[in-house]
Amino acid sequence: MNPLLDFSGLPCFDDVRIEHIGPAIDMLVADVRTTVDAISAKATSAEPPSWDSVVAPQFAAMERLDRAWGVVSHLNAVVNSPELREAYNANLQKVTELRAQLSQDSRLHARYRALRAAPGFPRLSSAQQRLIDNELRDFRLGGAELAVGDKARFLAISEEQAALMAKFEENVLDATNDFALYVEDETRLAGLPSDVMEAAREEAAADGRNGWKLTLHGPSYLPVLQYASDGGLREELYRAYTTRASELGKSEWNNGPLVVRLLQLRDEEARLLGFGNFAEVSLTPKMAKSPDAAVGFLREVMARAKPHAERDVAALRDFAKAELGLAGLQAWDIDYASEKLRESRFAFSNNEIKQYFPEDRVFAGMFKVVETIFGLHIREVPAAAWHKDVRLYEIRETGGGLVGRFYLDLYARPHKRGGAWMDVAIDRKQEGGVLQTPVATLTCNFSHPVGGKPALFTHSEVTTLFHEFGHGLHLLLTNVEHLGVGMDNVEWDAIELPSQFMENFCWEWEVVRHMSGHVDTGAPLPQELFERMLSAKNFHAGMHYVRQLQLALFDLQLHTAGPLDLAAVSALLRRVRDEVAVFAVPDYNRFPLQFSHIFASAYAAGYYSYLWAEVLSADAFSLFEEMGVMSAEAGQRFRSEILGTGSSRAAEESFVAFRGRPPKIDALFRHNGM
Ligand SMILES: [Zn+2]
Repeated sequence: MNPLLDFSGLPCFDDVRIEHIGPAIDMLVADVRTTVDAISAKATSAEPPSWDSVVAPQFAAMERLDRAWGVVSHLNAVVNSPELREAYNANLQKVTELRAQLSQDSRLHARYRALRAAPGFPRLSSAQQRLIDNELRDFRLGGAELAVGDKARFLAISEEQAALMAKFEENVLDATNDFALYVEDETRLAGLPSDVMEAAREEAAADGRNGWKLTLHGPSYLPVLQYASDGGLREELYRAYTTRASELGKSEWNNGPLVVRLLQLRDEEARLLGFGNFAEVSLTPKMAKSPDAAVGFLREVMARAKPHAERDVAALRDFAKAELGLAGLQAWDIDYASEKLRESRFAFSNNEIKQYFPEDRVFAGMFKVVETIFGLHIREVPAAAWHKDVRLYEIRETGGGLVGRFYLDLYARPHKRGGAWMDVAIDRKQEGGVLQTPVATLTCNFSHPVGGKPALFTHSEVTTLFHEFGHGLHLLLTNVEHLGVGMDNVEWDAIELPSQFMENFCWEWEVVRHMSGHVDTGAPLPQELFERMLSAKNFHAGMHYVRQLQLALFDLQLHTAGPLDLAAVSALLRRVRDEVAVFAVPDYNRFPLQFSHIFASAYAAGYYSYLWAEVLSADAFSLFEEMGVMSAEAGQRFRSEILGTGSSRAAEESFVAFRGRPPKIDALFRHNGM
């Protein structure tokens, strides 16, 4: 029995072997093709098309493939190996090819059009009608309306893009993993927190080396930039980090040619579809609707944020010069000087805060929030997974009914993709009276426990955890009964609403005092220290927003500009930086070649979504500020109007149903002291 073909329970993360992958994917792809042939063959019958003869069988076949492929992609991301990568890439081609072919299959397209026009259509639920309309839109964006010759070209473009995007991510991962700096002279590490030192020593020992091993993975790289007093050391790591996957490193990992080719292909795709540029294609299914609307929105945020950022950086420069002897503030000094200024102005360090957030307290606190406001119960249950550190939790209604389950993979380790994300393992559906409850995977790259103590989280890691858990809740708390109208098809620029909404709780004393306990004494975070954290929170807001604006504007303009060579990409980035940025970066910085969001995932011409959704999330949270932070009434409303409805109606409608009015930008500025 091939475990990838077993859909009876939880995904088979623990017993998939390389040799299972090819046969399972071949079989499931063939199954989808047979199903679509059968759906299309009914076109000749006199019976009008119906939900049950078109949508249901197609989605059922696709779901089996998505579930199996989801397991393979997840394993490829979290326990990468050369063999797995090879199998992943070989099968990625088949899956991408199938998806691209389906989205332009004229027989299937005709069935959906007929279904849209059939007498039964008005009797379908609004969620079902919306799904059919979305499918028709996606057929158009997938090339279904193209002439035969153009369809073939469109298909080739999609396949090449998918392969390039996978390679882009591999290059970043390989270049990141490749770097190691073994330090034997302890004085070079002055300023580094003891737990970071401990972890670095353990990593060196694991390689059979003396001293300390520094890497470009978050738990090593970020503290070096923030705490190491040796500017030379910071610069060495900064340079290695910002030149990853560029022509300044190993040529086989150079993402430069991939970026140029991707921009060409995206432009060609847009023109085939009759759009002026790729940004227009990307914005069509989004809430913002047009690149102009998104750019206009970004400039509105910039007008408010940039003066704050300029003030932030001027204060930082003065401080660095006067107190740290850093005359010209360099890019690799920013985090270090910020941390020192924060310490001097607010008299705390992130490392001090971290001692109050041991893993168990943080989880208890986070679950308490979710249990209280949404009326749920969460507990850990035993399960086999892909690594010994992975845990499984189930969420139940307070009444006992199973709502959903999630895996949690917390710690950074080699061969695991960086960053934090939530992914779908199983979607919710109700079929023939049987409910399939959803399953999510939450992946983070936090520091693992060292020295026999529990893992300690920085406040920013705590916030990341709440963020990913918010994505998880969006998947797990949906009420929709059909595949395709849950979290997965929510407009991309509204998808960060639940995740960013959850982050707000990390700044509420009611939550934090129950969620903190000093690792040695168990004492909660002192309220007075929390007040100082709150004052410090807005200290960076201007610089933070300016950075996000820079990425978002660069992304939108890049995908409006048409094909560009690398020199033109750099020139465009320089222009954006001239308009937005408040400090310079060295010439060797090759940031675009590591911008996986837009070159290796679905954020192309969509990075602005983070800010767009933040307006929604800040405004949504302001209802909790009005009704009480732990208000179960506000929670139930959020659950039923936003999380529960998924994509069964437009995000704008859901927001209005929840908030009683359209979104306003004020709460975002207010929350950030701008
Ligand atoms: Zn997110």
